[in-house]
Amino acid sequence: MARIRQLPESLANKIAAGEVVQRPESIVKELVENSLDAGATSIAVAVRAAGKALVMVADNGGGMDEEDARISFNRHATSKIAAAEDLDRILTLGFRGEALAAIASVAQVELRTRRAEDELGTLVRVENGMVLEVGRTACERGTTILVRNLFFSVPARRKFLKSNATEFKHIVETMQRFALCRPDVSFTLSDDDTLVLNAPAGTMEDRIRSLYNAEFMNGLIPFDAVGDGVRVHGYIGRPNFARRSRGDQFLFLNGRSITSRLLSHAVYLGYEHLTDAGSYPPYILFIDIDPERVDVNVHPTKQEVKFDDESSIYDLLLEGTRRALAAHNLTPSMTMPSNTSGGESAESVLAALRFALPGYDRPETLPTRPPSSTPPSTERGAGYDRPAPQQRSAGGLIGRDTLAQLFGGGQGAEVPEENVGGGGGLAGSGETIEQEVRPVGQGAESPEAERHGIWQVHNKYILSQIRSGVMIVDQHVAHERILYERALATMKQAMPMSQQLLFPLDLKLSPTDFALVREIAPQLASLGFDIALDRGTDRVTVMGVPNDVRPGQEGAILNELLDQYRDYQQVGATDQQDLVAASFACRASIKAGDRLSEPEMLNLIEQLFATSMPYVCPHGRPIVIRIDLAELDRRFGRTS
Ligand code: ADP
Ligand code: MG
Repeated sequence: MARIRQLPESLANKIAAGEVVQRPESIVKELVENSLDAGATSIAVAVRAAGKALVMVADNGGGMDEEDARISFNRHATSKIAAAEDLDRILTLGFRGEALAAIASVAQVELRTRRAEDELGTLVRVENGMVLEVGRTACERGTTILVRNLFFSVPARRKFLKSNATEFKHIVETMQRFALCRPDVSFTLSDDDTLVLNAPAGTMEDRIRSLYNAEFMNGLIPFDAVGDGVRVHGYIGRPNFARRSRGDQFLFLNGRSITSRLLSHAVYLGYEHLTDAGSYPPYILFIDIDPERVDVNVHPTKQEVKFDDESSIYDLLLEGTRRALAAHNLTPSMTMPSNTSGGESAESVLAALRFALPGYDRPETLPTRPPSSTPPSTERGAGYDRPAPQQRSAGGLIGRDTLAQLFGGGQGAEVPEENVGGGGGLAGSGETIEQEVRPVGQGAESPEAERHGIWQVHNKYILSQIRSGVMIVDQHVAHERILYERALATMKQAMPMSQQLLFPLDLKLSPTDFALVREIAPQLASLGFDIALDRGTDRVTVMGVPNDVRPGQEGAILNELLDQYRDYQQVGATDQQDLVAASFACRASIKAGDRLSEPEMLNLIEQLFATSMPYVCPHGRPIVIRIDLAELDRRFGRTS
């Protein structure tokens, strides 16, 4: 007698159901997909005991006639594809004809459905894969399916279900994905008679606001990138808006929620180091692509997909993210949530600064420190380029009106040109207009600083008056941003600038540090490190360091860079060049607590606004905070 036998269909279905129906959430997902495929514009989901006792999905879609309703529960019964070629252009969410069969084999199902043209609807009851009843019923147009007692006939599976709270969380997440993907459809979700989600149809922005809130919407910037036969659009979060988990990252492909480590990585990389360790910017991105170029039939739950040309979509996401961030380089706003105006563009702040800061309109090229051979010294606060006096004198002049207007002095200072040369900078303290201007002192506490409207507070922040209010700059992160961009630029050059040390430093490293130095030696060299390695002893000789290394820091910078590199690596960053640049910038920059002179402050701000992203540091922290006069007035209850 043959030992191999054909399994009865009901048993085969039960086995297959394991792939499709894992938990109550799977039922919600499959049924809502069917409703969307049926063209529903309104979908109501209700569950009891987190879906373990009941899942009900009611839609106002096309419905089925009696014949279709009966066979819809057969395995491989589908109206969505007919021939093999159809698999190449799938535009529906379902196509495998498995869901209803699978669900009906592990639960008790009741289906009511009516097409618009039929007077009476159809009722079908199925249990354990067996059709128990087919009959006529009066019902609304569309389809309502009730699924009771999931896994009632498979106790082993039932045992594996998690707590109601956990199972319900999965359902909410799935509903949230549908709701984000289809703002044109209205969704409700209730749990044991409590309405948990209520999303009326509307625009994408309406939908985001109703699922999250207005503040979340304000934290997003639009994304649009078009490639060869592909368009990606949606929103990505501002870097400083990053969350502690990936929960708010969504990718939709042709209207289907997908997961893709590769594509997520592309977006992640697009942020460079704009986000902090362990934080994840939210994004909601829709990839629209010719269906022939993707295979959604990789897995029964269709969460994973295969592209014919993955790298071009990867590049599109990466570039698109970079561009979106650069184009919407907004000031972190101090305004209240009620104020929807958000930040202001870099351009406009820059324009305001041109007026507000003496010497702002100086040539683009900034002085760099000449390669020095200084042995370690203890000088502080000289880490970035001090403006040379001559350069200062080339600066823009501030007219009477702007001075008065910006710095509130009201004296109407006329600025005689001859007074500006030599000592550099602008200052005013004389009693007559002609004597208003004289060279500025180097000391940060010079009273002239007040006239310029720029102060260092707590050796940490630079406070400055700008036309529209005040601006506060975090000196450390500002410098970090400057050095980061400069490091990346240096690395692109054939001959990196390096300061040779008069006394080369001999360092003994740990084996892991030594291994890391070896690994990133090319990047270190391109940044300006001149290092010799001795493998046998784990010793390195540092003969030169990048120009931006501050005096006194030459010995420590390499070790600090390695530590920082590891920190960043733990977040999952992989681009070595970028990692080296960011690590260097973080550790070589001036710190909170470093005292700055006025020219140093002015220079720092000037260089900051010459960077591509003056508002966010490489870790995603804000660099600049602006408080508008209007906001101050509002807080003080001033009406004018
Ligand atoms: P698939 O969605 O892969 O086609 P299903 O088992 O989920 O397979 O559904 C089988 C068929 O039942 C569908 O192809 C569709 O014709 C019909 N159907 C299921 N749900 C609905 C619904 N809510 N409204 C109208 N037709 C439906
Ligand atoms: Mg389906």
